[in-house]
Amino acid sequence: MSEKSPPHPVLAEVGVVVVAAGSGQRLGHGVPKARVLCGGRTLLEHALESVVASGVAASVVVVVPADDVVLSAVVARAAAAGTPSISTVTGGATRTASVRAGLGALPSSVSVVLVHDSARALTPPAVFARVAAAVGAGVEAVIPVLPVVDTVKVVEGDIVTATPDRAALRAVQTPQGFDAHALRAAHAGGTADHPGITDDAMLMEARGVTVHVVEGDALAFKVTTPLDLTIAEAVLAQRSADPGPSR
Ligand code: C5P
Repeated sequence: MSEKSPPHPVLAEVGVVVVAAGSGQRLGHGVPKARVLCGGRTLLEHALESVVASGVAASVVVVVPADDVVLSAVVARAAAAGTPSISTVTGGATRTASVRAGLGALPSSVSVVLVHDSARALTPPAVFARVAAAVGAGVEAVIPVLPVVDTVKVVEGDIVTATPDRAALRAVQTPQGFDAHALRAAHAGGTADHPGITDDAMLMEARGVTVHVVEGDALAFKVTTPLDLTIAEAVLAQRSADPGPSR
């Protein structure tokens, strides 16, 4: 049997929505999380660097808080290179609303959409490539995952009610990749704004779409708490001390 690399979607067909409109309350910096500095640059700059380095997309839409001149300036600087095309759109009150705004701002010609949290600022470009290749190979929904290292309990009040089999659990990251038509239809449907929907894959599952997985990466962790920011700073400091061959 001959070894064939997976089909890759044609660049122009792939769009990336980077959601950066969250408040970042848990980080406690008093500014939107995407503006928080890490290694001297905003989390959004790091996230965009990975998107651009991955080379997967011709169009990128960054979803930012209303009237955020700082993040708009970050995007304008990134867009100055010309390729890919990078623009901004104002986000909504929930992550789902922000993704929907981003989807609406992508060119209608896009047939594959990757949705990425700017808070996963250090996600290696290879994760974007894996996800884009999987959607390009013809599946409707793909998410990067990692095995779960902790035992996870279901708790009601202060009582443990169940212990799911850890071997079957995965921690979910972004970018999540989708057939654009399927994702647009899911966001137009009635369940999209249900408060229990925490990511786009869940929205697709609710519609009966099969969601596939590819390998995630520990560096795609979401910067949520002050400890996460300390870890991200340490990763960047180590990188500048020892840049290595590639990430
Ligand atoms: O709040 P959480 O960390 O789960 O947010 C995940 C991502 O979704 C972040 O990158 C955040 O900026 C984005 N988000 C958004 N609009 C919102 C809420 C979150 O773009 N209203």
